[in-house]
Amino acid sequence: MTPSDPSCPARRRVLVQALAAAGVLGAAPMPVLASAEARVGNVTGLYTVEVARIDVPGHVDDVAAAVRGWPGRIAVGGGRFSMGGQVAVAGGLHLDLRRLNRLVWIRPEDKVVRVQAGMRWRDLQDVLDPLGLAVRTMQSYANFTVGGSVSVNAHGRYVDHGPVGNTVRALRLVLADGSVVEADRTQQAELFRAAIGGYGAVGVIVEVELDLADNVPIERVVAETTLAGYPAHFDQAVRGDPASVLHNADLLPPAFDRPVSVTWRRTGRPLTETARLVPRGASYGLEQNVLWAVTELPGGPKLRRSVIHPMLLAKPVVQWLNHEASLDVAELEPRTRLMSTYVLQEYFVPRRHFESFARGMGEVLRQQRVEAVNVSVRHSPADTLSLLPWAREEVFSFVLYHKQRTWAAARDVVAQWTRELIDLVLAHDGRYYLPYQLHATRAQFDRAYPEAVALRTLKAVVDPQGKFCNELWARYL
Ligand SMILES: Cc1cc2nc3c(=O)[nH]c(=O)nc-3n(C[C@H](O)[C@H](O)[C@H](O)COP(=O)(O)OP(=O)(O)OC[C@H]3O[C@@H](n4cnc5c(N)ncnc54)[C@H](O)[C@@H]3O)c2cc1C
Repeated sequence: MTPSDPSCPARRRVLVQALAAAGVLGAAPMPVLASAEARVGNVTGLYTVEVARIDVPGHVDDVAAAVRGWPGRIAVGGGRFSMGGQVAVAGGLHLDLRRLNRLVWIRPEDKVVRVQAGMRWRDLQDVLDPLGLAVRTMQSYANFTVGGSVSVNAHGRYVDHGPVGNTVRALRLVLADGSVVEADRTQQAELFRAAIGGYGAVGVIVEVELDLADNVPIERVVAETTLAGYPAHFDQAVRGDPASVLHNADLLPPAFDRPVSVTWRRTGRPLTETARLVPRGASYGLEQNVLWAVTELPGGPKLRRSVIHPMLLAKPVVQWLNHEASLDVAELEPRTRLMSTYVLQEYFVPRRHFESFARGMGEVLRQQRVEAVNVSVRHSPADTLSLLPWAREEVFSFVLYHKQRTWAAARDVVAQWTRELIDLVLAHDGRYYLPYQLHATRAQFDRAYPEAVALRTLKAVVDPQGKFCNELWARYL
């Protein structure tokens, strides 16, 4: 590279300054991708959506201008970890919010922060960790954007926190007419409740104000229990222990009937892991090989159940909460997603039906020879905030992580047994989670989420032309 090479940073800077001085460049041009390049994918490699145009706004005003100026349908994308085209709509405008990712302000003494919606949890953790603070509620991995997480009303393993919406103090939204409004529990409260878990149906979330928590050292406690005994174990050993911070239980194939309970408790013990955050860009070759071996080799699931899983969990671990909360999804990423891909599903079941649903789910997975990696059980109190809650009452949730082949016939098979599982959860008065593959029938969706009627009514008022749409809402709303 020489100074006359236009790719040389110094030369590029001079060129940009000269063009800006001549008024050829605006202050902050909004990158745009159009026509042939306009395909919006997601983490699975399935369901890529052809859109008319992609805008990558860096400022709230750019979002408002794009919404005002675009005549057709608009969908919003964050980290693109939803799995069924929730981030895009065919032939529409895609707003890629990942550059709208700045800290707006932080008040450490009040444990409150305001960020732009395209910021990822991991970037927020970089801000919080030196202050001794942590995100209060988030998913198990840190790659998701704050806006995407609020839009699905994500949850994690935090004991008794429920969904992330419970930690949201306020939102700034761009509405269908391009106006920018502030919404919280008292002003624009209906919009606030609809935007949390609303998958972009009522507006673009551009800023999120969040409650924070203290970063504390935590130690792992592992216990094996039975399906019938698990709810009581949860009440006594997890909920009944004021030091509990994070909890889940693993169910392993093929029986899915011996929950291995993993709880992280606040502790004063010395750290066994001194890194404060999981480093970015680490390599996960070993994890990839283990994942390949347990899903592809004969006897792989047994090897995992009898050797790998107990070995991993036997090790005592004391670490910072921020370290456990900054896991990178790269550790789950297979070497290639060409022939097969890994996907998630999640079912929310009232606690009184825990055992019956667990047994029924195990049966479906075995009968249908589902390539299940594991099922992770979590808990949530009822969600009384969002308009479209996945937890109408206290629930245990079942997160299924499975492998599927990428060809169409394999997808059809997955669709068929997914609908069986949805019927099963509906028969147990439960619900299924919406960020995953769109296999539910319209009747199943309507039964799971009767509040969609209220969302439709609100949308008719705030977005009468149905500007905000994506493949999820095109199908079900
Ligand atoms: C490996 C893995 C682990 C996961 N673990 C968990 C977990 O522990 N708990 C859990 O609850 N979920 C989990 N999920 C699901 C995940 O929380 C959702 O897919 C979430 O949406 C991801 O955030 P994102 O930034 O990728 O959102 P995207 O997928 O980009 O967007 C999700 C939805 O929100 C809308 N949206 C995004 N940003 C905005 C915005 N600013 N304004 C308005 N609408 C917007 C999109 O249009 C889309 O409908 C997991 C997913 C994966 C792949």
